[in-house]
Amino acid sequence: MDFFLGIDFGTSGARAIVIDAAASIQAEMRFPWENSPDWLDVWQKALWGLLEAIPEPLRREIKAIAINGTSSTVLLTDATGKPVDAPLLYNDPRGSVMLEQLKSFAPENHTVVSATSSLAKLLWMSQLPTFSQARYFLHQADWLAFLLHGRLGISDYHNALKLGYDVEELKYPKWLENLQIPIQLPEVLPPGTPIAELQPEIAAQFGLRQDCLVCAGTTDSIAAFLASGAKSPGEAVTSLGSTLVLKLLSRTRVENARYGIYSHRLGDLWLTGGASNTGGAVLREFFTNAELESLSREIDANTASELDYYPLLKPGDRFPINDPYLPPRLEPRPDNPREFLHGLLESIARIETRGYELLQQMGADKLQRVYTAGGGAANNTWTAIRGRYLQVPVLSSAQTEAAYGTALLAMGQGGQGGQGR
Ligand code: ADP
Repeated sequence: MDFFLGIDFGTSGARAIVIDAAASIQAEMRFPWENSPDWLDVWQKALWGLLEAIPEPLRREIKAIAINGTSSTVLLTDATGKPVDAPLLYNDPRGSVMLEQLKSFAPENHTVVSATSSLAKLLWMSQLPTFSQARYFLHQADWLAFLLHGRLGISDYHNALKLGYDVEELKYPKWLENLQIPIQLPEVLPPGTPIAELQPEIAAQFGLRQDCLVCAGTTDSIAAFLASGAKSPGEAVTSLGSTLVLKLLSRTRVENARYGIYSHRLGDLWLTGGASNTGGAVLREFFTNAELESLSREIDANTASELDYYPLLKPGDRFPINDPYLPPRLEPRPDNPREFLHGLLESIARIETRGYELLQQMGADKLQRVYTAGGGAANNTWTAIRGRYLQVPVLSSAQTEAAYGTALLAMGQGGQGGQGR
């Protein structure tokens, strides 16, 4: 049997999933972690821990491995791959002091013009004393894959988007080259491309096949999209977690920084999307999960609620309404909690619908079908309400774990148009 391993380095822990050639899950491993002053040590322990936890008979048959990291988690290494300083995590805002400088050379409204972009972080790190020892700039996923295959300076075009890599032309743009940052930027490959076989000592240490391939990785949110089963233009994934995140697969690329809309490349297609601050975090403010479940069951999904809210925890949204001062609208609040919840679920469904309309108005393919991930995906009442607004089939994602999507990449599916290994 041939097996494929996907490893997800997420925000709260690492996970690994082994699938067979029919994409069925054969094993699933978890490695939770606490916040740590030494992330590099935590990540390495997690990587080794997950490999050791794979049942031995499977380990010997793993043909390919891919790793996803959190987007814009980055680090600098010396010429041997040894980190020269602590990594900067996805949400580290220290690059914000570089924003004015970024604006002076990046095209207007480019995705790199953000306090947490990989390029903002690189510029910030380039001012540190440790920068003089640095030779390579890598993303989390690049470095973890390097630990397995031993080749430095390789990334994928999902991780490299927020570094400024031109994913349409497949090269670094002139404005970035002109900066002449004295560092080796990674060579960028399509996600899922085989990079090299495992280092012999790693294969021997973990009982893995010597010819097991390590492939270019991706980011955690794209991996979760790949897991959903969405493949064709017009198919979308809504994540109903703490916030509301929309992703729509399209033949056209859509970019609009005003609304925080940008597109990742996915083989011949584009993964367009936007994120709203509304979502489950607001529901959690008023209801426990048990209340959400029991009250939702009492709601008639076929009857529209008259309540028209814009549920937010604090003022401001970017997508589908771009207004940093947009006030939360949660009035009038009925005495009956069921009616209140009905109004909230329906209002979030309206915002979701408006989001997909906006993406389509900007040129994305017509919405055909919506898969759902996140805590709200299990709520059948909500699914029915959303179907009434969206006017397309609304389904649960086939799989929601990023590690599953990354295992598909290792199998040669998802990133490059679906030709298996
Ligand atoms: P995160 O984005 O934090 O990873 P999750 O995907 O774990 O979020 O989803 C958690 C959210 O799901 C919570 O904010 C909670 O309010 C919401 N949630 C949990 N159960 C339900 C339910 N039955 N119906 C609607 N929302 C729910």
